[in-house]
Amino acid sequence: MARQEAITLLEFQRKFGDDEACRDHLFKIRYPEGFICPHCGGKICYKIAKRNVYECKECGHQVYLTAGTVMHRTHIGLLKWFWAIYLVSHDKRGVSAKRLERELEVSYPTAWTMLQKIRKAMGDRDGDYQLAGMVELDDAYFGGPTEGGRRGRGTEKTRVLVGVSLTNKGNPLYVKMSVIDDLKNRTPVTFAEEKIKAGATISSDAYSSYIKAFSEGAYQHHPVAFNLKEHPDHLQWLHTMISNAKAFIGGTYHGPGAKHLQRYLDEFCFRTNRRQFAPQLFNRLLSACAVTTTITFRQLVDGGSVPALT
Ligand SMILES: [Zn+2]
Repeated sequence: MARQEAITLLEFQRKFGDDEACRDHLFKIRYPEGFICPHCGGKICYKIAKRNVYECKECGHQVYLTAGTVMHRTHIGLLKWFWAIYLVSHDKRGVSAKRLERELEVSYPTAWTMLQKIRKAMGDRDGDYQLAGMVELDDAYFGGPTEGGRRGRGTEKTRVLVGVSLTNKGNPLYVKMSVIDDLKNRTPVTFAEEKIKAGATISSDAYSSYIKAFSEGAYQHHPVAFNLKEHPDHLQWLHTMISNAKAFIGGTYHGPGAKHLQRYLDEFCFRTNRRQFAPQLFNRLLSACAVTTTITFRQLVDGGSVPALT
């Protein structure tokens, strides 16, 4: 990937003053080598004024700049999208839909939908990479009954499988988290096959589900019976990541509920996996948003409604 530039708030404001400036920038991201018409291969195009459309000079074929991006088919202008991506990328605690509603002067459902689309781009981008080398694996519960044992929205317990790859020195490198129904049968293997490179060494607790799942296959497995005295460092980074994720989700989003938890986990992982590149995160996230197909509001809520207070 091309080296991404860091951008300050002042630079952002200078560079992206209106929809037109955002359009030009998105064009450069989508056509880094210059325009090529998908119909005739022509290399010259005209910009259609005030629309995210370019027309090939040779054959008249029209290209939608936002097609194949999370910004496609929304009534929200590119400038607001750029601001949303900027705000999300520049606050490591993330941005709530309430705040985005206020800052961008959009409705709450619009703000919520934009954030979910951005999170989808984050999850899709991380889906391009697998954990490798030494990988810690464990499951955790997110959410739980509120005080007094009353259960309500966002308080149901949701099981999550977590993998953290480590450097040779034993420091955390990358993290992946998936909402799962249970740990039965092939669940750990399905998670591993998708998210962990074959040949990796998986370190986990000595639960029978893990031992059964990894007794044969593409991984070396080091199950360690949990005993804090003998193994004080056992899965320590993994447990740190789980606490950080819980703080992130509980802090900004007040518990999104099981249904939407995966997208919040995707945001946590995307951000954590790029913690070394925090100043460049805007351009990285914008690139991720520019190469991810969008998801509709209907698909996002799947018959439900927009959760409050996220
Ligand atoms: Zn053409």
